[in-house]
Amino acid sequence: MTFRARHLLGIEHLAPDEIRTVLDLADTYVDLNRRTIKRTDALAGMTQINMFFEASTRTQASFELAGKRLGADVMNMAVAHSSVKKGETLIDTALTLNAMHPDLLVVRHPSSGAVNLLASKVNCAVLNAGDGKHEHPTQALLDALTIRRAKGRLQRLVVAICGDIAHSRVARSNLLLLGKMENRIRLIGPPTLMPAGVNEFGCEVYDDMRAGLEGADVVMMLRLQKERMDGGFIPSEREYYHRYGLDAEKLAFAKPDAIVMHPGPMNRGVEIDGELADDINRSVIQEQVEMGVAVRMAAMDLLARNLKAERGRMAAGVVV
Ligand code: ASP
Repeated sequence: MTFRARHLLGIEHLAPDEIRTVLDLADTYVDLNRRTIKRTDALAGMTQINMFFEASTRTQASFELAGKRLGADVMNMAVAHSSVKKGETLIDTALTLNAMHPDLLVVRHPSSGAVNLLASKVNCAVLNAGDGKHEHPTQALLDALTIRRAKGRLQRLVVAICGDIAHSRVARSNLLLLGKMENRIRLIGPPTLMPAGVNEFGCEVYDDMRAGLEGADVVMMLRLQKERMDGGFIPSEREYYHRYGLDAEKLAFAKPDAIVMHPGPMNRGVEIDGELADDINRSVIQEQVEMGVAVRMAAMDLLARNLKAERGRMAAGVVV
């Protein structure tokens, strides 16, 4: 197994063999999670703290379940009631928690780069559960696992990522991962929702859904990230749905067996038609949620192995 990382801060620093290692191990956790008894002891005796400074449903729940299924002691820090509200800085909060000797720290923060900063101040393994517009590595890994299981491979696929690319950490992490695995990526959305410098990303860029979806194997829809918009990026939601919302008519331009993905939370009738989202013959949105738990188990298991090995070397006095 190849996985050298000390933290999981983004896809940027993961090599293709490390990505494959996470996905292969996650496949075994999918099997475990389908059993009645879903317990292992990979993290037995270890402490996991989840710190979510931004709202989350799927990610927080799945990190919590993942830790518990691996046998860790899991604590969810109630940020809304913590000293953060009294003005404590992120670093002070991190140092306070660090003094309690956690082994894994799972952090979501509204500022890009905040999780990297925090990782440099603590001596446990840190997992980025989404930082601003920067990265959401476990989302890209769970998307990759979903695609690999649905398509039987993770290379040479035409993947269309559609909607609010500019404000999406999901798009950024997916772009990095799918690019490393040699897929053809198309970005589709209105020019106002494309990031600066998009033409240098090495992807094809479209502002017309039908043209962009032509022959796609995977259609990944994104939510309009209104919390990160400070102004009018679209004329109206109605018009946006008309031009960029995925429905059966637009999906017909993709390959007949193309899968439909969405990281959630979904805005039905804004970026995706509600019936299509529920169509189990096309939509893999529920599989994505299932894969999320398995991928987070795999990532935490691998980081914990590296942490144990590092501590073992330190205890033996080996200088690294
Ligand atoms: N849940 C994903 C994220 O945290 C996508 C979204 O919020 O639209 O980035």
